[in-house]
Amino acid sequence: MTKKALYSTLGCKLNFAETGTIAAALADRGVVRIAPGETPDFCIVNTCSVTQEADRKCRRLIRSLHTRYPSARIIVTGCYAQLQPVEAASLPGVEMVVGINDKLRIADYVSGTATEVAEVVPSRMLREFMPSCSRGDRTRYFLKVQDGCNYWCTYCTIPAARGRSRSGTIEQLVDQARRVADEGGKEIVITGVNIGDFGNGTDHNFLDLIRELDKVDGIERYRISSIEPDLLTDGIIEFVAGSRRFMPHFHIPLQCGSDDVLRLMRRHYLSDLFAEKVNKIRSAMPHAFIGVDLIVGARGESPERFEQSREFVESLPISRLHIFPYSERPGTRALTDIDLVVSPEEKHRRMQVMTDVSTAKQRAFSEPFVQTVRPMLVEHVSHGKTGGFTDNYLRVKLPTPRPDLANRVVNVRLKSLNPEADKFIGEVI
Ligand code: SF4
Repeated sequence: MTKKALYSTLGCKLNFAETGTIAAALADRGVVRIAPGETPDFCIVNTCSVTQEADRKCRRLIRSLHTRYPSARIIVTGCYAQLQPVEAASLPGVEMVVGINDKLRIADYVSGTATEVAEVVPSRMLREFMPSCSRGDRTRYFLKVQDGCNYWCTYCTIPAARGRSRSGTIEQLVDQARRVADEGGKEIVITGVNIGDFGNGTDHNFLDLIRELDKVDGIERYRISSIEPDLLTDGIIEFVAGSRRFMPHFHIPLQCGSDDVLRLMRRHYLSDLFAEKVNKIRSAMPHAFIGVDLIVGARGESPERFEQSREFVESLPISRLHIFPYSERPGTRALTDIDLVVSPEEKHRRMQVMTDVSTAKQRAFSEPFVQTVRPMLVEHVSHGKTGGFTDNYLRVKLPTPRPDLANRVVNVRLKSLNPEADKFIGEVI
C-alpha cells in the first residue's frame, strides 16, 4: 500500500526550500503527501530554533501531531533537532531525530535504504552544501543558494545550528532555476542563512549568481530574501534597479538603530552604513519595498539606546518593520558578555512603540500607490480567494475569484487600501 507523509515546516524560507526537497525525494520513493482528511504514516517536522518561542512551538506541534495521529512515525529535523536532539527524541511519538547534515537523507531512512540514522553531527562539522528548492506547495519557489553563517552575532544561535557559511555553485543553482521554469514556476525567492555571503571562499559572489539567474528563460520574477546590509553592495542594488526579473523588493536586517547596541551585538555595520544602503535603494528605485528586521529589548538596550533606535528607524525611508522581541538563547555570548537585561513588560512596551512606527511607515509607503497600476503574480486560488503581490511587494486581494489567472502575472489597478494599510483591493485590467 502507498505510504503517506505529512510535512510540517516551522521557521524560515530556507526550511521551506528544504522541506520541498525532502518531499520530492520521498515522492521518488513512492511516499506521497497526504490529502486533507487522510492519516499519515510519517510526520516529517522541519523545525526552527531562532527563539525560545520557536522551540516551544516545535514541542507543541510534535505533541499535537502525536495526539492527532498516534500511529504515525514522527521524524524531527531542522535547527531545534540539531541543537536539542535529546529533548526532541524524548517527545511523544518521535521515532527519529535527524541533524541538519542528514536532513535531505530522510528519504533513505524512511525507505530503509539507510540502515542506521546518523548521529547528529556537531555544527562545526557541517561542511556540505545541500541544494534545495521548494516545489508544488506554493506559487512561489524558494531556492536555497547558501547555508550557515560565519558572523557569530552575540544574540544568535543560528551558526551553532547551521554551521559555517557554504554555498552551491552557480551552475547547480541555475540548473535548479531552469527546472523551476520547466515546471511552470514564475517566481523564485532566493534564500539562505546569509545569502550575501554566497561564494565565500570561491571566485564568485552573490552578484555573479544573480546575473546568471537573471538569464534563465521562463522565470518572470526573483526576490532576494533577507540580505545583510554590509553585503548588500552598490553593484547588487544597481543590478536590481536595471533588471526586469529581479523585483524592487529588499529585506534588510537592522536589528537595532543604536550604534552602541549594534556594537554589543557584534553586527558588521553601524547605523550610518545602514542608512546609506536604504537611501541608495530609494534613490535608484523610489517604488521599491524595503522591509527591515528589528529586535527590541535586546540585552544592552537601555532606555536611551532604545530611543536612539526609534529615532533612527523613524528617519529611514523604509516600507515596513518586522519586529521581534529579543529572546535569550542558551550558548550565546550575549548571556555572558552583556549585563543589562530588559524586563518582559518593557520589551512589550517597546514592541508596541515600534509596531506603531511600522504601521505609519507602511501607510506612508502604500498610500501613494492607490489608483496606480502594477503587475501582480496571481496566487492563493483557493477557498474563493484570489490575490497576490505586486512587483514591489504590495499585497492585493481581488474581490471576485479568478482561478483562470492562477500563476499568471497580470496588471492590477490598486483601487483601495484597507485601514491597516497592508492590503489593497485590486482590479485586473
Ligand atoms: S548574520 Fe548574525 S544574526 Fe544572521 S545568521 Fe549570522 S550570526 Fe545570526
